[in-house]
Amino acid sequence: MRRILVVGAGQAGLHLAIGLLQNGYDVTVVSNRTPESIRDGRVMSGQCMFGTAQAHERALGLDRWADVCPPIEGIELSVPSPAGGKALGWAARLTTPAVSVDQRMKVPAWLDEVERLGGKLVIHDATPEDLETYAAQYDLVLVAAGKGEIASLFERDGARSMFSTPQRALAVTYVNGLTPRPEYPAVCFNLLPGVGEYFVFPALTHTGPCEIMVFEGVPGGPMDCWGEVNGPAEHLARSRRILETFFPWEAERCSGIELTDANGVLTGRFSPTVRRPVAVLPSGAPVLGVADVVVLNDPITGQGSNNAAKCAAVYLQAILERGGQPFDATWMRRAFDRFWAQAQHVTRWTNALLTPAEPHHLAILGTAGQVPEIASRFVNGFDDPTDFAEWFLDADKARAYLDRVAA
Ligand SMILES: Cc1cc2nc3c(=O)[nH]c(=O)nc-3n(C[C@H](O)[C@H](O)[C@H](O)COP(=O)(O)OP(=O)(O)OC[C@H]3O[C@@H](n4cnc5c(N)ncnc54)[C@H](O)[C@@H]3O)c2cc1C
Repeated sequence: MRRILVVGAGQAGLHLAIGLLQNGYDVTVVSNRTPESIRDGRVMSGQCMFGTAQAHERALGLDRWADVCPPIEGIELSVPSPAGGKALGWAARLTTPAVSVDQRMKVPAWLDEVERLGGKLVIHDATPEDLETYAAQYDLVLVAAGKGEIASLFERDGARSMFSTPQRALAVTYVNGLTPRPEYPAVCFNLLPGVGEYFVFPALTHTGPCEIMVFEGVPGGPMDCWGEVNGPAEHLARSRRILETFFPWEAERCSGIELTDANGVLTGRFSPTVRRPVAVLPSGAPVLGVADVVVLNDPITGQGSNNAAKCAAVYLQAILERGGQPFDATWMRRAFDRFWAQAQHVTRWTNALLTPAEPHHLAILGTAGQVPEIASRFVNGFDDPTDFAEWFLDADKARAYLDRVAA
């Protein structure tokens, strides 16, 4: 039986581990946190996942919360006007509703599943030296450690990494009591150029349905304001103050909000980075990077968990196809290339939203308010961002598309 070790018990690592166990592999998962500390700890993400990523989870029976998680049926975009009110405001439905299941529920449940299927769980903060030991003992070592320090073993790919500093100051607030959007539940995405973005959407946490608020402040700007916040109550108050200042229609929905729990808050920042997929250890043994380890995007487009599920699905397929042949560095790079064929579009689109909008982006987002077809295509691109290369990201294609739709 082929032996595979996965470092990191997150969205991608556990998805892969369970897929491999279901296919008869001998799997060990190394996690630097116990299931209890994850369940009782701080929130880690917004983890809004669209149809394709959900389908990958469903294929392995991992979508356990499908019947109880509130559906997110569309996406609304709003831009404030300097004169007050909205300069832009439109919404469109997702073809398949999105869902967000708190990773504090998902990860411990999936860890149980790993053990139920006969996988081994080792609680340990893996070091580069450990990787040498694992590489000598296992047929394949996968590093799915997210933003963990160990990811720095994988060399930054300068040609594919647009930034070397964080592009947003991030904060997350999990709340109850937020007034529902009247039409249908949606991600409400609010964007104020030069200041930052705020999005909010329904989710499921361990206390039941909730709403997740995500703040993305331009570094040095007025939404980059979390450094001196002390404790969850101040965090909630700061969340409210940002909305009252910049997105008053969102503040109106928040008169009755309270935190889901004292750990329902998160702040941080990181540099979006693409890394080379294979790290070669001093012994010469190669290890393969997974999901955020190798393609780390800013959460502005809510793609990280989606990418993680897609990466897990691609790697699982590549491992199964490999049969009994060695998992050498060439095979690893090919597996990553299959993932990058999709992920490059996510990175390009995400980076485009982090930088000042180009005229063709503004033309599309402006026209989408009058033309439902454009709004629908933009919104459903969150599920399949490869489509953005065909119209949104390229100025000539964007103009040709707008002309065609107008005609
Ligand atoms: C503010 C914010 C909002 C987000 N919102 C969304 C969203 O709406 N939609 C979306 O799709 N994505 C979102 N994401 C991103 C998403 O959460 C991540 O991209 C996704 O979880 C990445 O999956 P992963 O498996 O690569 O890493 P993770 O899920 O981070 O898992 C990595 C695991 O490895 C463990 N680990 C690290 N180092 C070691 C080590 N040395 N040894 C052992 N274990 C180790 C970590 O503790 C962790 O458990 C958001 C992220 C942030 C920060």
